Amino acid sequence: MTLILFPYKPNERPEDQLETTLLYGTLKDMRFNCLRLPTTDQRHEYVRVLRENWLREELVIIEHDVVPTIDMVNWLIKCDHSICAQAFYLYPKSTNLKEPVIAHRDASERWIKQGVAYAPYWSLGATKITLLAQKVADLTRLDELPRGKWLDGWLSEKCAAAGLFAHIHYPVAKHNHQ
Ligand SMILES: [Zn+2]
Repeated sequence: MTLILFPYKPNERPEDQLETTLLYGTLKDMRFNCLRLPTTDQRHEYVRVLRENWLREELVIIEHDVVPTIDMVNWLIKCDHSICAQAFYLYPKSTNLKEPVIAHRDASERWIKQGVAYAPYWSLGATKITLLAQKVADLTRLDELPRGKWLDGWLSEKCAAAGLFAHIHYPVAKHNHQ
C-alpha cells in the first residue's frame, strides 16, 4: 500500500500550509495510508523523516505548501512509472527570477517548459517514489546531506545516474509559497 508522507514545518508560514493540512485530513478520512510529520526540530529534520520511512512501501511525498488535488494524488499512485512528479511552479519569491518556473529541470539543469513529459532533475513537491527508485537512491545510507546539496537534488542525481527520470504529471498543482 502506498504511504503518503506529509512532511511539514511547524511555525513556518502556517497560512501557506493550511490547504495541504486539509488535504491530509481529507485523504485520511478517505482511508488513504497517510502520515504527517514535523521536520524542523533537531530530531526530525527532513532527511531523517524520509529515511525512517524509506524502503518500506511505495511513497508519495507531499510537501508542506504544495496542494495537489485528490485526482492528482490518485494518478500519481496509479501511474506505472518508477518516479512521478507533479508539475508545480516555483515563484519569484523563492527563485528571484522574473517569471514562475516549473520546479523540475532537464539534463542541462534548465527549468522544463510546461508539457515536458520527463525530467532527470525533479523537486519533491508532490512526488511518487516506488520501492525500485527508493532502492536506487538509497536514503538509508545517507547520514547527512553533502554541504550545499538539496535532498531532491541528491535523490534525482542518484536515480538519473541509473537511468530513472521522473515522469512529470500535469496540470500544474497549486503551490502556496508565492
Ligand atoms: Zn507518472
